Amino acid sequence: MTLLKRLNYKTSETIAAVSFPFDAHSSFLQGPAEAPPLIREAVVSPSANTWSETGVDVAAPGHILDLGDVPLANVVEDFNKIEETISQILSSGLIPLSLGGDHSITYPLVKAFMNKFPDLQILHFDAHPDLYDELNGNRMSHACPFARIMEHGVVQRLVQVGIRTINDHQRAQADRFGVEVHEMRLGLSDLPLSFTGPLYISFDMDVLDPAFAPGVSHQEPGGLSIRDAIDLIHKIEGRIVGADLVEMNPRRDPSGITAMAAGKIYKEIAARLIMQHE
Ligand code: MN
Ligand code: MN
Repeated sequence: MTLLKRLNYKTSETIAAVSFPFDAHSSFLQGPAEAPPLIREAVVSPSANTWSETGVDVAAPGHILDLGDVPLANVVEDFNKIEETISQILSSGLIPLSLGGDHSITYPLVKAFMNKFPDLQILHFDAHPDLYDELNGNRMSHACPFARIMEHGVVQRLVQVGIRTINDHQRAQADRFGVEVHEMRLGLSDLPLSFTGPLYISFDMDVLDPAFAPGVSHQEPGGLSIRDAIDLIHKIEGRIVGADLVEMNPRRDPSGITAMAAGKIYKEIAARLIMQHE
C-alpha cells in the first residue's frame, strides 16, 4: 500500500496530512468529498504565503508529510479504511491532520485515537452538536458522529463551541453524555480551552458565519468570524494529538473564499502541532 510505504520512508516530519473524499452521509447536499484538493491549493496559493500568524512556515521541509487522498468508494464500508489509515499514522509517530469530507468521518477517525489514548478529550467547533441518535434512519449520518463517539464511554471530555442549532433531542443527548455545550448566544469570552489530557480537535467549517464561509452544506447564520476562530485556536492549552477539518462544500463556494478560510484554519492548526513538537 502506497500510504504505508510513504510512512515507512518518512524522515522527520511532525504531521501526516491525509484526506478522505467522503460525503455519502451528508443529509442535505453532496460536495464535501470534493473539498480536499481545494483546501490544499488554498494553503499554497500564491495570493498568500504559507506562514501561520504565529510564525511557522507550515510548508517548510520537515513539517508536514502529505499523504494525499485515501481512495474511497463513498460507502459506509469506507469507515474501516479511515480508522485503519489513522491507526497506521499514529503507529508511525506522526500526528494525523485529516481533511474531509463530511463530518461523519470523525467517528472512524476518533475510534483510532480512542484506541491509542484512553483519556482522550475533544474540542469540537461546529454550528451543530452532531449528537443525533439517528437522522433520516441513518445512525452514521454527519449529524450523529459525536453520539457514536460518546457511546463508547472512552472520551473524557467533549467541549463544543459555536453551537446555535441545538434542539430538545440533542440537549437530552448532551445531558446523557455529559457534553459541555457552549452555545454561540452566550458569547466566546469564557470558553474553557485548557485541556489536561491528549486533545483532538474537530473543526466543522460551518462553525464560521456563512457571511465569511458560505461554502458549506448547512449555512447557519450567527456564527464565528474567522478572526474569532483563529484567536480560539491560538488560545487552546494542552497537547493536541490530532485534528480534522470537515464540511467544506466547494459546490457552494464559487469565489473560493471558503477554501481560503479553510486553508487559513489548516495553517493555524498545523502550526500549533509543529510548535508543540519543537
Ligand atoms: Mn458537524
Ligand atoms: Mn455543522
